[in-house]
This record gives sequence, structure tokens and C-alpha cells, in this order.
Amino acid sequence: IRHLKKYYKAGASFGLNKNVVKAVDDVSFHLWEGETYGLVGESGCGKSTLGKSLLRLNDVTSGEVRFRGTDILSLSNRALRPLRQQLQMVFQDPYTSLNPRKRIGSILEESLVIHGIGSRQEREQRIFEILDKVGLQPEYYYRYPHELSGGQRQRIGLARVLILNPKIVICDEPVSALDVIIQSQIINLLRKLQGELGLTYLFIAHDISVVRHISDRIGVMYLGKLVEEAETDSLFLNPQHPYTRALLSAVPIADPTVKRERIILKGDLPSPLHPPSGCVFHTRCPFVMDVCRQEMPILREVSPNHRSACHLQAEITK
Ligand code: SF4
Ligand code: MG
Repeated sequence: IRHLKKYYKAGASFGLNKNVVKAVDDVSFHLWEGETYGLVGESGCGKSTLGKSLLRLNDVTSGEVRFRGTDILSLSNRALRPLRQQLQMVFQDPYTSLNPRKRIGSILEESLVIHGIGSRQEREQRIFEILDKVGLQPEYYYRYPHELSGGQRQRIGLARVLILNPKIVICDEPVSALDVIIQSQIINLLRKLQGELGLTYLFIAHDISVVRHISDRIGVMYLGKLVEEAETDSLFLNPQHPYTRALLSAVPIADPTVKRERIILKGDLPSPLHPPSGCVFHTRCPFVMDVCRQEMPILREVSPNHRSACHLQAEITK
């Protein structure tokens, strides 16, 4: 993913008002095959928009998204179709998209029919296999969505995507609507399936402690920008960006020997319509300096495989 931008006009219908929202602003990173990349940040920071842009579920302003060498953004819709099957997205609550009048079996079959996969018989076999993979008994084939719990619905949400044999699955807050015990069941299921099916995940969540348990690497977003990226352990042990440090300072730690000062951020997330000049975080940063108000810090490597976008990082990590 190179220099990805997704801008849109807000209030364009009022004619004169030409405010531009930079929902995703010049984001570059890569996904390794077989890894889980966690993407965190407050709601409205552009994580979901980024996820959708990668799959071309919305129109991207500029940038490049390459999947095994092919630039997805420049393909015609027709050329994109065979790739669609390999690039899939799971949403927070699949319930709204599960047709209440259809049984689970035919909901899952629909996925296959849309992509023209298998004969009737083959599809049926595949549905029973995938139900088993996501930990549901065969009888769920005959159930209706309203008969399922939240966790079971998310299993169906997963099954609907995995039945297509995707390579990359973008999980957008897949456990945020579930209670804690069910959350960990679904996360464990995602990990198990990743191993079995060779999946690559982009795992989007606002809660950094949820992301921690599944991610190999984590990217932190703030107001449309990627502000820090590191391997999970490195990020938790040695966060560089003040925003990441604030996020982590709110996470309880089990180890009593580790002392972490609670950093309370002042103010609210600024409106993406009027993002601050210079460093987008400067209005809330406890370490703000003059240069921060003028110059936008670039995301640069601060140690191997660890990138941060801050003018101060050298000083504050002492
Ligand atoms: Fe804070 Fe300045 Fe670093 Fe931005 S660049 S995070 S305002 S210290
Ligand atoms: Mg979202």
C-alpha cells in the first residue's frame, strides 16, 4: 500500500462549501503473507475507510494497492472480479446483512453462487465443511439468523467469507459488539483458521488490547495518518509516538514491576474537516513544541521494523 489517500468533500451539496475531509492521508505500509497486521485508533480516524479502500469498496483518491504485483486500484471492474474472491472483509455485526428470511445454509450458498463456485452438491458439501471449521454443528445449516447468538452470527459472518477461500481477510472490528468471553473465543477461532487456511489478516479495532492478542505487527492511526508501526512486542514495550504512549497508558498491565505513567490526553479528537496544521496530534500532545505546529513529521524508522512520525521521539524515549 503506497501513498494511499481517500479524500472526500463534505457539504458539497451546499455549493460553496468545499471542505475536504482527508479520511486516509498518505498511508503506506505492507502486509506480509500469513501475518496479522492490527490497525488501531479512535473511531473516525480512518481505519475502516482504509480497509474498504484496500478492497476498492470505495473510490480511492490516489495511491497504489498492490496484491502480488497487481495494482488493484487500476484494474477494470471485470479484471478485478477474480481477485474479489481472494480479498474479503468481515464486519462488526454481520446480522444486518444476514437475510432474516433465509436459512444459514442458503445464506452461505449465496456467497458461492455469486462467485459461480461448484455444483449444487459441491456447494452443499462445502457449506457443511465450513460450518465445521467455524465450530458450528451441521444443524445450523437449517437455522435462521434470529436463532443465533452474537458469537454464532460472527461465526457465520466468517464462514460466509472463508467459504470463498480468500487469501486476505480484512476484519473490521469483528469482536467489538461481543462480550469479553465471546471475544476471546472468536479471536482464538480466527487464529486457528489462519493457521489452517494460510490467511493473512488486517485486523481493525479501536481497542489496542484486543489487537495485541492477535497481531504480529500493529499500526496506529490518528486523523487519517499512520503515526506509528511496529512488531507487537516492540510497540508495547517501547512505544515511540506520544499518541501510542497515551493509548497504552490506559491499558492495565499484569506485571507489577512495570511502571507506566497514565497519560491523559487533553481535548477531543479534532474534526477531520479542520485537521491541525503540522503534526495532526499537536492539539492534544503533552510534548508539543513550536516545530510541531508547522511541520508535519514523517513516518520514519526509529529502530529495525519500528516506524514513528514524531519530531521528538529521540528525546522522549530516554
Ligand atoms: Fe507531539 Fe510534536 Fe511528536 Fe506531534 S511531532 S506527536 S506534537 S511531539
Ligand atoms: Mg470503523
